[in-house]
Amino acid sequence: MEILSGLTQQEIEQITDSLKASKFRARQIHNWIYLKSVSSIDEMTDLSVKFREELKKVAKVSDTKIKVKQVSSDGTIKYLLEYPDGECVETVLMRFDNRANLTACVSSQVGCAVNCSFCATGKRGFIRNLTYKEIIEQVLTIQRDTGLKVTNVVFMGQGEPLLNLDNVLKAMEIFNEDFYIGARRLTVSTSGIIPQINKLAELDMQSTLAISLHAPNHEIRKQLMQIENKYNMNDLKKALKNYVDKTGRRITIEYLLIKDLNDTVEAAKQLAMYLHDIKCNINLIPYNPTAENDYQRPNNNSIMKFKYLLEHSGKKVTVRLERGADIDAACGQLKGKVD
Ligand code: SAH
Ligand code: SF4
Repeated sequence: MEILSGLTQQEIEQITDSLKASKFRARQIHNWIYLKSVSSIDEMTDLSVKFREELKKVAKVSDTKIKVKQVSSDGTIKYLLEYPDGECVETVLMRFDNRANLTACVSSQVGCAVNCSFCATGKRGFIRNLTYKEIIEQVLTIQRDTGLKVTNVVFMGQGEPLLNLDNVLKAMEIFNEDFYIGARRLTVSTSGIIPQINKLAELDMQSTLAISLHAPNHEIRKQLMQIENKYNMNDLKKALKNYVDKTGRRITIEYLLIKDLNDTVEAAKQLAMYLHDIKCNINLIPYNPTAENDYQRPNNNSIMKFKYLLEHSGKKVTVRLERGADIDAACGQLKGKVD
């Protein structure tokens, strides 16, 4: 049985060819899947009943289930999805009142091997990679369930996208070509896997690269992220400069703010120094509590002071709005199960 979600136009044509139907039928099916986001072949009402019956014998729309759906008081929706093998990941839909944007935060792996000290996903360890179709299913599920069209995708759910790069790149291509989501509306966030960043530079990626830096120096980064022992900040900096040179794109630097650890005046100065010759915007992420550690979120005054110090260095700095914390859908709170 073919699963239609995640198939390209050409792949759908192979199915319609086998049923001796025209290429136009493939076009119609493609639209029903990606733009009208139907859940079943029966909803494809511009296909004849007879053809739908034939199609149903060889294909179905999806094999992914919504296991749990939670809606936050701020409108954020978190889905726990279950794939046919029983593995689950979260996908989150964020709406920002003042914008027409609908952003899907997708997972790229079940669990994560990088195991950063502040992150609930990492605590589970690595379970498996998601296929590109499983990544695509997350956005289709949101569209089917809400009837809305996703306009932006960020790879900031479970997993390290650059450790599953082939599937992530293929999913991005489909978001681009089949969902008509522009390359610049896609963001890949990474803990800093240097060889893969170099590869993205060679590929001249036009989507946004976001780097989870989170520390102003090697010592603090080592405490927070084991990956610093393998890919350290000095080498990372070279890779980032190379990336900007090759692609011409501005990088987003993500910086988690943890009380009394990396939110000091000294830290802000060191960070500004580290970033001074990298073309980037900075996104500050006040730490979201997880059960697994006792880090704390700084108070608003310290956050604003840190922001001010960085702005003073000439960078554009934003503070990430916390979304869906009441349903554990905020950054770092995803762990693929219901408590
Ligand atoms: N693995 C990738 C993408 C997923 S995480 C990466 O690490 O970049 C998405 C973002 O949420 C990352 O910047 C991550 O560092 C951040 N994050 C993880 N745990 C968090 C927490 N408890 N509070 C706030 N942000 C967190
Ligand atoms: Fe993995 Fe990212 Fe969580 Fe680190 S922050 S453990 S890289 S998902």
